[in-house]
Amino acid sequence: MYFEKEITCPFCRKDKTESVPLMYQRLKSNDAGIKFLAEGSIATEISRLPPHKKAKLIEHLTPPSEPKTKLPAGAIVLMALVVSWLSTGSLISSRIGPKIYFWLSVAIVCAVTIPFYSILSLVIENFRRGLYRYKKIKAVWEKQYFCHSCQRVFIPKD
Ligand SMILES: [Zn+2]
Repeated sequence: MYFEKEITCPFCRKDKTESVPLMYQRLKSNDAGIKFLAEGSIATEISRLPPHKKAKLIEHLTPPSEPKTKLPAGAIVLMALVVSWLSTGSLISSRIGPKIYFWLSVAIVCAVTIPFYSILSLVIENFRRGLYRYKKIKAVWEKQYFCHSCQRVFIPKD
């Protein structure tokens, strides 16, 4: 069995500490599947915690949330219009003539597609930046420890 090396809390100097991701997992699952914890274990028994205290701990130890991509709805609608314009091309060109249709298509594609792609690349860039920030915060979160004695969170020094 693998034992984590004992980590001492820098605030109260006690070693009743637990990794934050592990503690969070226990909080969320109400200790499901972690019933094997040895007697005299340092860990707080999650199922015995009063609900308000549990909720507070969860809030305290929640990991950072992953960034989400949100494409602007307007841009998507415009792009769909372009696609439908181009896909019904033969129908429209027979009415307005192929030459007008061709130049109209070029105009529409330029007017819609170029802003669409610049919006899209902006969204992607923002997402990448958000993801980078998220990964950094998450890495810090993963290194955190929770002290069962003084209820503080800290990052142990190597
Ligand atoms: Zn402490």
